[in-house]
Amino acid sequence: MPAHDVLIIGAGLAGQRAALAAAETGASVAIMSKVHPVRSHSVAAAGGINAAIAIDDDWTEHAYDTVKGSDFLGDQDAIEIMCSEAPGEAMHLEHIGVTFHRNDKGELDLRAFGGASKKRTAYVADITGQAILHVLYEQLMRHHETVDSFEEWFCTSLIRDDDGHCAGAVARDIRSGTIEVFNAKSVILANGGNGQCYKPTTNALICTGDGIAQAYRAGAPIMDMEMVQYHPTTLAENGFLITEGARGEGAHLLNSEGRRFMEDYAPNKMELASRDVVSRAEQTEINEGRGVGPDGQGIYLDITVVPRKRVLEALREIVNIGRDFAGTDITREPIMIRPGQHYIMGGVRTDVDGQTPIPGLYAAGEVACVSVHGGNRLGANSLLDTLIFGRRSGEHAARRGKELAMPKAPATRASEDAAQIKQIIDRPHDGRRVSEIKDELGATMNEFVAVYRDEDGLKKAGEIVGRLKEQAAEAYVDDRGTVFNQDVLGALEVGYMIDCAEMTIVSAIDRKESRGAQFRLDYPDRHDEEWLKHINVTRSADGEPEISYSPVTITQWEPEVRKY
Ligand SMILES: Cc1cc2nc3c(=O)[nH]c(=O)nc-3n(C[C@H](O)[C@H](O)[C@H](O)COP(=O)(O)OP(=O)(O)OC[C@H]3O[C@@H](n4cnc5c(N)ncnc54)[C@H](O)[C@@H]3O)c2cc1C
Repeated sequence: MPAHDVLIIGAGLAGQRAALAAAETGASVAIMSKVHPVRSHSVAAAGGINAAIAIDDDWTEHAYDTVKGSDFLGDQDAIEIMCSEAPGEAMHLEHIGVTFHRNDKGELDLRAFGGASKKRTAYVADITGQAILHVLYEQLMRHHETVDSFEEWFCTSLIRDDDGHCAGAVARDIRSGTIEVFNAKSVILANGGNGQCYKPTTNALICTGDGIAQAYRAGAPIMDMEMVQYHPTTLAENGFLITEGARGEGAHLLNSEGRRFMEDYAPNKMELASRDVVSRAEQTEINEGRGVGPDGQGIYLDITVVPRKRVLEALREIVNIGRDFAGTDITREPIMIRPGQHYIMGGVRTDVDGQTPIPGLYAAGEVACVSVHGGNRLGANSLLDTLIFGRRSGEHAARRGKELAMPKAPATRASEDAAQIKQIIDRPHDGRRVSEIKDELGATMNEFVAVYRDEDGLKKAGEIVGRLKEQAAEAYVDDRGTVFNQDVLGALEVGYMIDCAEMTIVSAIDRKESRGAQFRLDYPDRHDEEWLKHINVTRSADGEPEISYSPVTITQWEPEVRKY
C-alpha cells in the first residue's frame, strides 16, 4: 500500500502548487490525477492572474474590489491573505519560468479585467493557465525523489480512521482497472469544480465535482453552493469561452439595436462591471427582445474596435476559437455570445490554510470554498486562489505530517469500491444510459438554476434531479472491461454531479434574497440583516442534504450598496 505524508488528489494548478510547496517543506508526496496533469482544466485558463504589482496599485485596493465583487459574502480575512500574498506569488512564478507578457519598456504588462479598479491582470497572451501549469509540472520533476506521481488514476472515495481523521483515499488505476488504498497523514483535495452539472459550460469534461461529492459523502460541510458563475461571453452554440481579456482590451457588447446597452446597467464600468452584473444585463436584453441571432438568444461581442495587431498579439487563441468553432473572424466582425456556466464559487469549506473541519482533510482551488469569491468571483482571481491556497495547504499539511504517525487505512476499503464498480458493470441494460442522464441534468440546471431563478423553477429542478438520482442508481454502461474503462468512471462521475446539483438547488431555494450570482426574481433585493451569512450543506444520516449557517468574516469593509 503506498503511504505518504501528503496525498494530493488533482494535478491542476492547485494540486501542483500544493505538491511543490509540500515537497519544499520536506514531505513525501503523492499527486494523483484522472487525466494527464497538463490536461487539467487549469490549462484552459486564458485571461490571466490578478496581483497588485503596478506602482500605483496596492493590495488593499485589490482586496476591496474582491470584497465588492463577492457582493460582501467573501470572508475578508481570507481575501486579505490572498491579495497581500499575490504580488509575491506572481514574482515567484516569473522566477521559476512563467514568461508573463512585457510592454515596450520591458516592464510586466497588466491588462484590465472586470470589477477591478486598476489594470491588475498579468498574462501570457491568452494562454496564461497553460503557461503556468507547464512550468509547475517541470518544477515538480525536480522533486522526483520525494514526489510520486499517479497519472491517470481515479480517486473513488476518501478514508476516515476510527478517530474520524482522514487517513487516505481509494483510487483506481484507469489503465489496468486495479484498485488500491493510498495511505496518507493528510489528503489535499484539488479536484477542481463541477461545471459539467450544466450544459453548456465552459468547463472541461473532467470537471464533474468528484472532490466536492466525495468530501460531502465523508461528512465535510460544503459552502456557498448556490453561487454559480455565468460568464458573460461564451459561444452561443457550444459554451466555449471567449476570455474576459477581450473586454479588457476594449471590446464592446452590442444588442440588436447596435447599442452598448451596458450604459443602462453599469454606466461607470460598462463592459468591465463584475460578471454577475454583465451576465444579468445580457440576459435582460435577450428576455426583453433585444437579443441577436436567429432565435434572438445572443448578444454581439465586438472585438473589431481593438486594433487588429493587438488582437493577434494578445488574444490569438480566441481568434482561433472564433474561426474554428463559430466561423467568425473576430478581427473583422462581431461574434455572437451569451452568458454560460463558467465557475463554482462554492465548494468544500476550508480555513485559510486549506483545512476542512475533518482533521487531515484539506481542499484548495475550485473544489474549495475559503471563501474568497463569496457571491461572485472576479475574473483572474481564480488562478490566484488556486496558487495561494494550494501553496498554503501544501505547506501546512507537510508541517502537520512531521508530528504525526501514519494513521490506519484498512485495505478492505479497496474491496468495497471494487464491489461498487462491479455492481455498475453488471447492471442489466434496462435502465437509462449515463450520458442521457447527464444531458438532462445539464439542461435542467441551465434552465432553472441559471442567471435568473425563482422558487417554482428551483423546486422543479429539485424534482427532476431527484428522479435522475434514482435513474443514475440503475444506469447501465456498455464497456464491461478493465482497461481504460471510462464508461464506468462516467457512471461514478454522474453520481458526483447529481450530489453537487442537489446541494446547489437546496442552497438556492434556501437563500431568499438576491446577492452576487444568485438572483431570485421572487426576492430581488439583498437582505444583509438576514442573509449576510454562508449556507453550509452537510449530508444527514439518511443521505439527504442538511442546511446550517456560518458567519461572514468582516475585517475592514462594511457592506454597502454595490454599483458599477
Ligand atoms: C475556459 C476557462 C478559462 C478560464 N480562465 C481563467 C483565467 O484566465 N483566470 C482565472 O483566474 N481563472 C480562469 N478560469 C478558472 C480557473 O481556470 C479554474 O478555476 C482553475 O484553473 C481550477 O484549478 P484547480 O487546480 O482547482 O482544478 P483543475 O485545473 O480543474 O484540476 C482538477 C484536477 O483534479 C483531477 N481530478 C478530478 N477528479 C479526480 C478524481 N476523481 N480522481 C483523480 N483526479 C481527479 C483532474 O484530473 C485535474 O488534475 C478559467 C476556467 C475555464 C473553464
